[in-house]
Amino acid sequence: ASMAGLGSEPGELSDSELLLLLEEPGDHLRGSPVERPPQKRAQTPLEKYYLTYLCVTDLSTQSWCEQQMVYGRELPPLQAPETVVLLNTGKSIHLARELEVHDVVKVHTTSKEDSWAIKILNLLSVIPVLQAGGCVRELPVFGVIEDVFLTGIIDELCYSAKGELELRELKTRGRPFMPSGAQKKRDYFQVCLYKYIFDAMVQGQLKPDVITNHIQLRPEQPLGSQIREHAQKVGFTVTSFGDLLELMYLNLTLSDIPSIDCLKIEYSHQESNTLLGTEVVRFEEEKVREKAQNYLAYWKGQREVQGVEIEEAWKCQSCSYSEICDWRKKRILTLPNSVLHL
Ligand code: SF4
Repeated sequence: ASMAGLGSEPGELSDSELLLLLEEPGDHLRGSPVERPPQKRAQTPLEKYYLTYLCVTDLSTQSWCEQQMVYGRELPPLQAPETVVLLNTGKSIHLARELEVHDVVKVHTTSKEDSWAIKILNLLSVIPVLQAGGCVRELPVFGVIEDVFLTGIIDELCYSAKGELELRELKTRGRPFMPSGAQKKRDYFQVCLYKYIFDAMVQGQLKPDVITNHIQLRPEQPLGSQIREHAQKVGFTVTSFGDLLELMYLNLTLSDIPSIDCLKIEYSHQESNTLLGTEVVRFEEEKVREKAQNYLAYWKGQREVQGVEIEEAWKCQSCSYSEICDWRKKRILTLPNSVLHL
């Protein structure tokens, strides 16, 4: 069993309140310790790390430097303490924004299916809000690209004055200026993936068996009592995990929620809490798909890990792994400094 969430105990909910059942996917939930057949061939990275799905942020991190992302998984954390503080403060700011529109409750989970049920209940509870033209935060999204299951959490979805559905991603920064072009590129990719997945969801592509097959979940698994209780409070009577999946599918496909029209990233300075700037991101579906295909090819074992290209060798200067990086040694240090501008 695990505990999820913060705030009030269950049993205090009125009809007008929105539930936010929090459970961050820990790595223990991402891998499946069961049904792994004996390996006769080389393991793919997905198999090696026991992953049944990836997060959108895994791919956006990969887009900065794939080799760095792999070192981050395999080696002890080399994050500078100030980076950890920044990340923690960023999380607090996100939570404060969530609490403006949600009540957060504690929920006991008793199975892997219960943990996923929480995400699905959070999704189900915001569908009527979006249908009514309201604003939602921390919206879970799931989908499949290139046969790999992906999950993510959209910071905010609102309708603009023009009536367009707008995604807003909040990025907090330690320094009081806008990020570099390369950092923006990584963030652009992240929000484009959110749109890609969200649009597929509301277009009815997230069928129940897509989730159970990819994540190896049991539709017949009875839901824990607290999960059933919370489902009841938001108007759903469910017994098994499969019931909840059916409800999610029906609600998404019958909801008439539009695709996302506009992608925005807001950068703010953490210390002063001032807005540094807003970027509007152009969505080019073909390019997003191609990029995702390339990154997922690594995860599926179709190609070797890669580090940065020569033009981006400047990234190695601030990389914690530069001293031990094989890619850098092989590909970059063989070139003259004048080429690298190091
Ligand atoms: Fe990537 Fe360069 Fe770091 Fe190697 S040293 S992991 S290539 S950024």
